[in-house]
Amino acid sequence: MTALPAETTTAVVHELREALGEKVSTDHGIRQARGHDSSHLPWEAPQAVVHCASTEDVSAALAICHRHGVPAVPIAAGTGLEGGANSTAESIALDLSGMDKILRVGASDLDATVQAGVMKSSLNAALAVHGLTFPVGPGVDASVGGMASTGASGTTAVRYGTMKENVLGLTVVMADGTVITTGGRSRKSAAGYDLTHLFVGAEGTLGVLTEVTLRVYGIPEATGVAICSFPALEDCTAVVASTLESGVPISRVELLDDVTVDAVNRYSGLGLPVQPTLIFEFEGPAATIAEQAETVRRLVAGNGGTGWNYASDPQQIGRIWKARHDALPSYVALVPGSSTWSTDVCVPISRLAECITLTKADTDSEGVLAPIVGHVGDGNFHLAFVLPPGDDGVRAKAAAINDRLVERALSMGGTSTGEHGIGLGKTGSLAKEHASAIPVMAAIKKALDPQGILNPGKVLAG
Ligand SMILES: Cc1cc2nc3c(=O)[nH]c(=O)nc-3n(C[C@H](O)[C@H](O)[C@H](O)COP(=O)(O)OP(=O)(O)OC[C@H]3O[C@@H](n4cnc5c(N)ncnc54)[C@H](O)[C@@H]3O)c2cc1C
Repeated sequence: MTALPAETTTAVVHELREALGEKVSTDHGIRQARGHDSSHLPWEAPQAVVHCASTEDVSAALAICHRHGVPAVPIAAGTGLEGGANSTAESIALDLSGMDKILRVGASDLDATVQAGVMKSSLNAALAVHGLTFPVGPGVDASVGGMASTGASGTTAVRYGTMKENVLGLTVVMADGTVITTGGRSRKSAAGYDLTHLFVGAEGTLGVLTEVTLRVYGIPEATGVAICSFPALEDCTAVVASTLESGVPISRVELLDDVTVDAVNRYSGLGLPVQPTLIFEFEGPAATIAEQAETVRRLVAGNGGTGWNYASDPQQIGRIWKARHDALPSYVALVPGSSTWSTDVCVPISRLAECITLTKADTDSEGVLAPIVGHVGDGNFHLAFVLPPGDDGVRAKAAAINDRLVERALSMGGTSTGEHGIGLGKTGSLAKEHASAIPVMAAIKKALDPQGILNPGKVLAG
């Protein structure tokens, strides 16, 4: 977009104030706080923040932005890792975190409808009353609309899929303020174009989600968790492939590389063998999960795995998962004052060990600390670059390693991001991954947002 005249931006804030009153804030601290996500990527404070509480608020704000050609950037919990919610100085930030109402729980249909700003933790608290849960999403708490917009997933995708498989319907405000609904509550529909899945993963570039209908699940009767170690990464991926082939419906399988295990040992005093490590989770009726765990235990032993430690009581389970949950703080503790830059790719599981091994060789030869954890049942892994305070040399090396990581994943038939999305950080990667489809994506963007006001510069560069 070309730079807007100052009188345009002033007029927009004035009109927003007239339409939405105190929901419009130009306070410095609020503009700073709501101008960016949790990534390392550049941002500027937006000129104003609109605290939206309803579909009508979003519609009114977008109609005004559209009339003046002013960019609008949706932001919810701000936990994104690729700069998707980062503003520019000309933008209006649409803060959706106040859209926090659970509109309906359909206990007998196993679905729920929520406003887009509802946090996953709040949804799960409301569902628990009905014996239900929504198991999909990141380890960190995030909003349902943000998760849908980034196509998020996490440790449970191996069993429950990603947001793409779990959003049934949407209310969306289009660039000009028009409101549409897509999908619905039925489990399947053959009615027309699948607009729901056009907006899921669109990172706020095609419309703003205001209400989301989700599939939900019964809380499992019992849970069991096991941890074990392996001499080599190849052994881990071989076991996971055999487990998936065996049909055991594991609900999670997480990989921790040796660097991560060492870091969490130091941070949390866990005393785990410093080797590639897997954590399996099983859910279901108590008798069934014990059987499933025994099947996996045999597969682990047959592939050189050792130290099988199975737990079914919540305290022991919590202790095993600590190794995974403490990963991020343990990385930062390795280098005082450091921050992390987290990137992810996803490859076919048969190429995962090779992809991780080559990536570790790359980080080692560059002398960059970048521990790895992975949702190994999906072939998805995360590299957390540890950035020492003020060390731009490491940041530049990390950027080059990240580019090579994406190239490597693509050459193996994988994708540039399994779950964090494209945002600002991976627009170049998307162009490489989907070169032939970019014109079609650009045509869709142009058709739905002709002035390019919706989260410009994200997903599609320029
Ligand atoms: C410690 C940590 C761990 C993480 N682990 C994972 C993980 O395991 N898996 C994973 O997938 N992600 C992970 N993430 C990334 C992040 O949590 C997800 O991307 C999450 O989906 C973002 O949700 P949010 O509410 O914070 O969205 P925000 O960061 O506020 O926004 C994300 C994007 O969605 C857009 N957006 C937000 N709400 C709407 C809406 N209602 N309509 C249209 N567009 C909207 C924004 O413009 C932006 O482009 C992690 C992040 C952190 C900090």
